[in-house]
Amino acid sequence: MTDSDDESYTGRRKDMVARQIVARGITDPRVLAAMEKVPRHLFVSEALWDQVYGDHPLPIGHGQTISQPYIVAEMTQALDVSPDDRVLEIGTGSGYQAAILAELAYRVYTVERVRELAIAARAFFDELRYHNIVTRCGDGSLGWPEEAPFDAIMVTAGAPYVSKKLLSQLKMGGRMVIPVGDKHSQTLVKLVRDEDGIHQTDMLGCRFVNLVGEEGWEA
Ligand code: SAH
Repeated sequence: MTDSDDESYTGRRKDMVARQIVARGITDPRVLAAMEKVPRHLFVSEALWDQVYGDHPLPIGHGQTISQPYIVAEMTQALDVSPDDRVLEIGTGSGYQAAILAELAYRVYTVERVRELAIAARAFFDELRYHNIVTRCGDGSLGWPEEAPFDAIMVTAGAPYVSKKLLSQLKMGGRMVIPVGDKHSQTLVKLVRDEDGIHQTDMLGCRFVNLVGEEGWEA
């Protein structure tokens, strides 16, 4: 760990996991361990380090946000990631969610449309030695066809509908989580592909920034 991940931040993360995540019913031990391990504060500007382990999202610039820790845990648990899975994330943002996924998966492919955010996240991944994260700048609403199919897909921006293009990049047995709704509030939806087709379950209400792109909202 880096010098900036001192004891006090380790303690805050333990607290965050106990009070915000375990307390709300998240049980997957691998997810809990990843959330205790990844130094969330290093993914936001230093001015926000005091607040970053709080029970809320935070601004990361360019009108975007890093999700609330509990939402990250809920979405990650729902994806049911195994150590040899290849996972696609749409909306790199700060890079925090991708780092959590990288603790659990074989490889993470993450797409961000805002160039500055994509570049900053790549730098954090290199610094923290997340060599199993592959980054790309572009419209992730179309997925990443060259690397498809994926064992799991996570969309971390609110979509108007579940894109068929994204679903088609999911393996048999694959899982996808995506917030779907209007521009101001969404439902977190889980989709699973099996021999009979696609099965959808609604998880919880949520509020994400907009997915902007060809299979999302207009800019
Ligand atoms: N997973 C992020 C949360 C990011 S907020 C984290 O852990 O910090 C959602 C992100 O999705 C924003 O950075 C936004 O720029 C990005 N985004 C929106 N539409 C997109 C698209 N079509 N393709 C890729 N990224 C997109």
